[in-house]
Amino acid sequence: MSKIHLLSPRLANQIAAGEVVERPSSVVKELVENALDAGARKIEVDIENGGVKLIRIRDDGGGIPREDLPLALSRHATSKIETLEDLEAVATLGFRGEALASICSVSRLALTSRPQNQGEAWKVEVEGREMKPEISPAAHTPGTTVEVRDLFYNTPARRKFMRTEKTEFGHIEEIIKRQALGRLSVAFTLRHNQKVVHQLRPAASEEDHIRRIGQLCGANFIESAIPINVSASGLSLTGWVAKPTFSRSQADLQYFFVNGRVIRDKLVAHAVRQAYQDVLYHGRHPAFVLYLELDPATVDVNVHPTKHEVRFREGRMVHDFLFRSLHRALAEVKPQAAAVETL
Ligand code: ADP
Ligand code: MG
Repeated sequence: MSKIHLLSPRLANQIAAGEVVERPSSVVKELVENALDAGARKIEVDIENGGVKLIRIRDDGGGIPREDLPLALSRHATSKIETLEDLEAVATLGFRGEALASICSVSRLALTSRPQNQGEAWKVEVEGREMKPEISPAAHTPGTTVEVRDLFYNTPARRKFMRTEKTEFGHIEEIIKRQALGRLSVAFTLRHNQKVVHQLRPAASEEDHIRRIGQLCGANFIESAIPINVSASGLSLTGWVAKPTFSRSQADLQYFFVNGRVIRDKLVAHAVRQAYQDVLYHGRHPAFVLYLELDPATVDVNVHPTKHEVRFREGRMVHDFLFRSLHRALAEVKPQAAAVETL
């Protein structure tokens, strides 16, 4: 009698979900990334009970044609890459074709979509162990809505790790903050239990950018920030860094984007720390919102399922570019009496 058998699609997806769907905010991250990849100009996020009861993301992006809907919720199904070459130069936030399959294996998920040039909207849900797609007609403006209800209802081990509604919503707010900083030109609305928490207009001009950064990072930060705008040998760095007089006791106002993706990276952290070394008191942390743009083929984003880590092909060059750009900008600031922000 054979002992080896294939896992059911639902169980296989639940196992994969363990890696990417840690808590409600992970769902929000994946769904907003999908909306951004679909070219959305406007994204609305509705949350109930910290996301455990409901996460609803509505976008005005490209939408999904009816014939693609059966695959949208399947694992290893993506419209974003096809070949290894595509993977190596991937410019979209997603590419693993796993998020929707993972999320819908641990929640009750419905996706409704209408492509931009079509008159009809359709809704897809999946059923049972086989996760069989069920498609029905629906009403929707062009774009997509994904509704995730009762997250972890069928995975009690994960559900046990949920914190209070307030804590879970705090994580969601942080995710939206990063994404709204990452895509200044996209309008975002975040509601919790029907109350508007953030309403961010699309930012086009420099003035708009500054307003949005102020809304998300505080007026104190942006008022004391030095604008950065440097390009050299295929690398471009823009954004804002706080003057040394605005330092923090924690590393909680540090946002670094690589080609629009927020990342945490040792090499980047080191370059920034070095640039601030002589101007910051020991134990204080700099604050910054920085955007690095470079050829996607020179950065590997397929390092971890959550894609928070990257690997630069030319690490040394990136490090030196960051260090020099920031060091020069900071050196131009006149030393001032220490008015240390003590938050
Ligand atoms: P990935 O983002 O890695 O491709 P997902 O499981 O997140 O994988 O999504 C699967 C596919 O469903 C995407 O490749 C995309 O074609 C489609 N999709 C998902 N969300 C949206 C959306 N909001 N708008 C348009 N298409 C979407
Ligand atoms: Mg995705």
